[in-house]
Amino acid sequence: MDKNEALTRRGLAFLRSKAALVHNARETIRHAKAKRLIAVIKANAYGHGDAWAARTLYEQLSVKDFAVATVDEGRRVRQAMPEKEVSVILLGVQPFELAVEMAATRLAPVAGSFDWLLAAKKSFEEAGSSDVLSVHLAVDTGMGRVGAKTKEELASMVDFVRHDPNFELAGVMTHFATADEDNQAYYDQQLADFMNMVAGLEIPEKYWHLANSGTALFHDQEAPTATIRVGSVLYGYNPAMAKRPSPIQLQPVGSLVGRIWSVHRLLKGESLSYGATYTASKDEWVGTVPIGYADGLKRSLAGMSVLVNGRRQHVLGRITMDQIVISLPEKLPVNTEVTFIGRNGQEENTIEDLARFAQTIPHELLTGISERVPRVDRD
Ligand SMILES: *Cc1c(COP(=O)(O)O)cnc(C)c1O
Repeated sequence: MDKNEALTRRGLAFLRSKAALVHNARETIRHAKAKRLIAVIKANAYGHGDAWAARTLYEQLSVKDFAVATVDEGRRVRQAMPEKEVSVILLGVQPFELAVEMAATRLAPVAGSFDWLLAAKKSFEEAGSSDVLSVHLAVDTGMGRVGAKTKEELASMVDFVRHDPNFELAGVMTHFATADEDNQAYYDQQLADFMNMVAGLEIPEKYWHLANSGTALFHDQEAPTATIRVGSVLYGYNPAMAKRPSPIQLQPVGSLVGRIWSVHRLLKGESLSYGATYTASKDEWVGTVPIGYADGLKRSLAGMSVLVNGRRQHVLGRITMDQIVISLPEKLPVNTEVTFIGRNGQEENTIEDLARFAQTIPHELLTGISERVPRVDRD
């Protein structure tokens, strides 16, 4: 679907730029001096489209490793990326009952404990399967979600996957909790714990992957970053938001635009939307745009600024499921474009601006942009 068709039919379009995605990946690799990028494309590539992101990075930068969160996401990416050299990593905890299926469909899960490996092995035996499951061994150094907590456990896991014919070691990883926060001590402790855990296990460094976006941007001098495993930066935003300026120029990949489908007059004293929380203090022009919280425009964004003809306007009253009303500077034609995220004339609404306004993080807003919003390629 092209932009015009999306705006005509749906009044909404989430526009995405391949050039920006490739620029961000390239700049992050350069900054972190990385040799390999594991592109994190979970949650539909943070809302941008997982198959779109994977194909673009593969074709333009020869990226061969992609990470998602679930088996179903993995199967979708695998369909889009059938190439033998491509690996699809599953970052979240997976049911051991799916081990046989994951091996057969070439998905490489994270193994979080020795017990998980034993249970997965049992599934292979019960199914009589001789398929090989590539696994990334997780080390829990402080996220508390998944991973071996002792050196002994990690050593047993390494030994097991090295010797069992149903398993193959694909990587060893940990995840930082404070790489984009002002908590250097916690970060340092996690890094030291990881180094201590892998010491003596003779796992070549090319198997390690630790660096999320915050690490790749702000800790490139401290952590091993030969392989980086990043999401946020690819999509052009800094996970630290205003707390730390990005050392590289990131370009926002996605923008969200809509159309005003109704323009009408609100008279002094009249109210609008649920709860009648907004009342006009003078006669004014307003416009209705077909976007609501079912599209991902959270109710907490009520009052946010939107851009119309290069000028800031505001969402008036509550955001409903499918429609909002915005202020207009004057009577404007129906079908005038409205920018929610992105540039419009001299003005810009960044995803960070919206996240600050809604007191959340960009990830939450982007992953919330629902399937009802057409994804459209800008370049
Ligand atoms: C989501 C996730 C990432 C990517 O994090 P960003 O901060 O977006 O780069 C990396 N590793 C794991 C384990 C994750 O869950």
